[in-house]
Amino acid sequence: MAGPTECEVLVVGAGPVGLLTTLFLAKAGVDVVLIEGLPDVDESPRAMTYGPAAVIELERAEVAAEARSIGMEESDYNFRLRWITVDHKLIGEFQPEDRIHGSLDTVICGQYELSKILKSNVGKCRSAKILFNHKLAEIEDTARAVIATVETPDGKKQLSAKYLAGCDGGRSTVRKLVNLSYDGFTLPQWLVACNVRYPFKGHGFARSQFIVHPEHFCLIAKIDRTGLWRVSYNEKEHLTREEVLANVHHKFEAIFPGPKPLNKDAYKIEMLSPYRIHQRSAPSYRKGRVLLAGDAAHACSPFGGMGLTTGICDAAGLADSLIGVLRKGCDDSLLDKYADIRRQKYQDVTHKVSYNNTCVLRDTPPEKASEAEFFKMLNSSPEARRKMLENAYTLGHDFRQYWPAEQATNGTSTAINLDAKPDPPFATTTLGI
Ligand SMILES: Cc1cc2nc3c(=O)[nH]c(=O)nc-3n(C[C@H](O)[C@H](O)[C@H](O)COP(=O)(O)OP(=O)(O)OC[C@H]3O[C@@H](n4cnc5c(N)ncnc54)[C@H](O)[C@@H]3O)c2cc1C
Repeated sequence: MAGPTECEVLVVGAGPVGLLTTLFLAKAGVDVVLIEGLPDVDESPRAMTYGPAAVIELERAEVAAEARSIGMEESDYNFRLRWITVDHKLIGEFQPEDRIHGSLDTVICGQYELSKILKSNVGKCRSAKILFNHKLAEIEDTARAVIATVETPDGKKQLSAKYLAGCDGGRSTVRKLVNLSYDGFTLPQWLVACNVRYPFKGHGFARSQFIVHPEHFCLIAKIDRTGLWRVSYNEKEHLTREEVLANVHHKFEAIFPGPKPLNKDAYKIEMLSPYRIHQRSAPSYRKGRVLLAGDAAHACSPFGGMGLTTGICDAAGLADSLIGVLRKGCDDSLLDKYADIRRQKYQDVTHKVSYNNTCVLRDTPPEKASEAEFFKMLNSSPEARRKMLENAYTLGHDFRQYWPAEQATNGTSTAINLDAKPDPPFATTTLGI
């Protein structure tokens, strides 16, 4: 094997978190290599909505406008998140006047489209390189560097870096190689995510709605300007993957609006993928020269749009902390601060919000939903709705505040206090409106 290729930071995983970490580092002139095991960015149907704390970072990375142009039409900028019954009666919704004055427009865009935008922006940076078909296999953390052994179509290669960012998703090889556990639990159901064409709008559906039902709880939301919709519904835990796939039409029949029985020709599935849902986190997001971000560090139920929203905040925080150490004269302990603060954010915000939101959808008796505490509050208290939207900002944390004063730069700012602790009864969604 040839001697190791050297760089300042090696990022593992070209999901959105690895790509965004790389982009921020490269924009600061850090010599960064991003490796990805697949031949290109992954196209599976996953995230599409990003909460306000993530939107701040997408704006700072200068990719928010392009993402909006793919995912949103004019009318989508004022959409209101709503909750409905399985027979499509309104239970609760945000109101137009709830919008926080001066808040940034939300970003709605399929995760795979966001990844493509990020990849193209990284491609414009001279100090960054993306290597596809490069799968991390081993890590050696020496006192001076971390040396990664990577499997490629041309055999094994080594890369040496001052720091390694593990952004390689829920099954993270990095996390396993540094012996960090993934503590928590798996929810007792499947989540099936479908990208499907069906005239939901013609049947009176809004841009985004949750259905509250013990068996058929789900999210139905428009993904892009071409009339593609995301339907993410749950399935029974004991079903095999094949049984889950065989039951799709039956589920659509129960959930979809419009004439019944539902005609199989009335919809067109473009992508479909079943997932298990986890609430898990590594006990630490740092081990020596290795750091974790995104799903490699934590996982949560997608109902509430928290997973990648948190990952995007991690990416910005990790990049700013590494830039602080590599370019701004900060002590290496800034990386411990990154690890501690981001893990606390997962515990205080991401875990609670995503799990509570899933429980509201699954466990609220549908026939008495409007009497449930959450919906009573949503329907009667403008202050509570406002508080919920403000809580969505608490996921962010600006690590540039730890750079020496003369090195700090002005970034996108918000009037909201990013570090306030959320108020648990209200912290039930981060979806911006
Ligand atoms: C159905 C569904 C809907 C969701 N909706 C939302 C939403 O609306 N909003 C939201 O915020 N979140 C949502 N999420 C969560 C979101 O999809 C994840 O949080 C996000 O994918 C995490 O991004 P990541 O970059 O950390 O990891 P990933 O996207 O998993 O990327 C990891 C990358 O690492 C690569 N990799 C893995 N191992 C190696 C290796 N050994 N060497 C090299 N490369 C490797 C993988 O191939 C992959 O490309 C949803 C999730 C699901 C399942």
